[in-house]
Amino acid sequence: AKLRGKGSYQIFDRQMHQVMFERLTLENNLQRALELQEFELYYQPIVHMQSQALAGFEALVRWSRHGQELIAPEEFIPCMEATGLIVPVGLMILEQACHQLHQWHQQGFAELTVSVNLSGRQIGSPTLLADIERILARTEINPTKLKLEITESAVMDNAEMAIELTQTLRARGIEISIDDFGTGYSSLGYLHRFPVDNLKIDRSFVTQFQSMTQKYCVVEMIVTLSKQLGLAVIVEGIETAEQFAWLQKLDCEFGQGYLFSKPLAAKEIERRYLQPHH
Ligand code: C2E
Ligand code: CA
Ligand code: CA
Ligand code: CA
Repeated sequence: AKLRGKGSYQIFDRQMHQVMFERLTLENNLQRALELQEFELYYQPIVHMQSQALAGFEALVRWSRHGQELIAPEEFIPCMEATGLIVPVGLMILEQACHQLHQWHQQGFAELTVSVNLSGRQIGSPTLLADIERILARTEINPTKLKLEITESAVMDNAEMAIELTQTLRARGIEISIDDFGTGYSSLGYLHRFPVDNLKIDRSFVTQFQSMTQKYCVVEMIVTLSKQLGLAVIVEGIETAEQFAWLQKLDCEFGQGYLFSKPLAAKEIERRYLQPHH
């Protein structure tokens, strides 16, 4: 940069300014979105692989900006994590998901589970346990039907806190799932130090998944390992009947993906899956 003279500094400044401006605007908009309650939960079905029966849902946040266009989480979660806004928004998401689950249980679907994503920033929050207790009490859900998803990287960033937290949550009956398993940390060594209930195998293992390829062998190995450790496996991102057939042969417990359904608004979930029993 030095050799290019003054002009390049100016361009750099202008770009920096632009980036910072966009970042600040997004931050302000997200803060307002929280106040205006523009975050909405979508629910994606999770099915039993053998019977294809519905097991529960993963709650996935959407930003319904000005009550209209839906914005995907990739567009705003990173900013929320950087600013810490994910902590209050994450609690709002958890409460909304628990409240919805309670309603569905009361409508007669008492076996349904809901999985909620926890960000690494939330794990670092000193009030998280008390906040979760308050939400459980307010929404009156059965804690054994709640699953919290934590990514490997969030665990590793906060290993000591994450271990203590998961121990307490599991003692309370809440299940813990490792999200995006197989990305990030190639070491499986932490699994015996870090007691969890479920592994969610990342979608990247399922795309272009074919017999006898490396991916197939990795999935097979993860499933075998999980059985030895007494963990349930959830495979994400199942899009084709062929993928489904292979994964069924590998004896994975649960599956999730566009083959079954995209994430849907609560009303649409009810219309498609939760009609009153006759
Ligand atoms: P994730 O937790 O791994 O969630 C699964 C993502 O994969 C969702 O994207 C889902 O729509 C998508 N997906 C599911 N099945 C398929 C499939 O068959 N094919 C393909 N191509 N994609 C599939 P989504 O809803 O856009 O969320 C993206 C990520 O944003 C999530 O990844 C999660 O890391 C984050 N996120 C979403 N909601 C929340 C939340 O409430 N809290 C936190 N902390 N993070 C969230
Ligand atoms: Ca997840
Ligand atoms: Ca995932
Ligand atoms: Ca992911």
